[in-house]
Amino acid sequence: WAHSIRFHNSFLLERTAPGEAERLAAIEHALANSAAHGLPQISVARNEGKFLRLVARSIGAKRVLEVGTLGGVSSIWIAQGLPPDGRIVTLELSEERAKVAKQNWEAAGIAHQISIIVGDAVASITALHPSESEPFDMAFIDADKKSNPTYFREAKRLVRSGGVIIVDNVIRRGRIADLSNTQPDQEGTREMLRMIKEDAEVDATTIATAGEKSFDGFLYAIRL
Ligand code: SAM
Repeated sequence: WAHSIRFHNSFLLERTAPGEAERLAAIEHALANSAAHGLPQISVARNEGKFLRLVARSIGAKRVLEVGTLGGVSSIWIAQGLPPDGRIVTLELSEERAKVAKQNWEAAGIAHQISIIVGDAVASITALHPSESEPFDMAFIDADKKSNPTYFREAKRLVRSGGVIIVDNVIRRGRIADLSNTQPDQEGTREMLRMIKEDAEVDATTIATAGEKSFDGFLYAIRL
């Protein structure tokens, strides 16, 4: 299916719209620079990153919260969907990865739109208190999966009514549905899904995704 994804990407990701070649070059540069610094190649796939950009544009997002930065690739996709005064706050555990992300944002020309908080995202997100006038319009959760229940609960607290919360890797080639797999990461995502089932403050679905590397899925939720 990798061939199939590349085939479709060749139409939808290589559009000739003004400025698009530069935007895509910034993504490719960030991927290459991250690999050159030895970061694991676990950024969102290109079709998924483009989807994040489209969601940001669709809802007119101006403030976005991200959990799990790595080399800043998904942040670049999202920033490319924001207006010039749009802002991202992103949370990352590793100082070394944060440094690479900052280089990538500089090269992409969007560094002024992104603030990174380095440390354990459970502590960072719990301490966030955006002003009432500027809640987040969108959250993208993509860090340690065992903490997904906390990240989702806190994102719900921080995202405005009508805003969107997206969580990556909720299918993982079927590992989440395999109840014999009791690793903390799978249990964390399962617990989050159970929480959402009972939660009257959100409406949500899972969307299966096939990237170039894997079969996985997003959780897409709206804060009611
Ligand atoms: N969203 C990124 C992208 O698509 O370009 C990929 C993020 S990667 C899958 C997950 C990141 O979460 C890693 O960089 C890892 O260091 C970070 N992470 C893991 N546990 C964390 C924690 N407790 N607090 C903050 N970040 C954490």
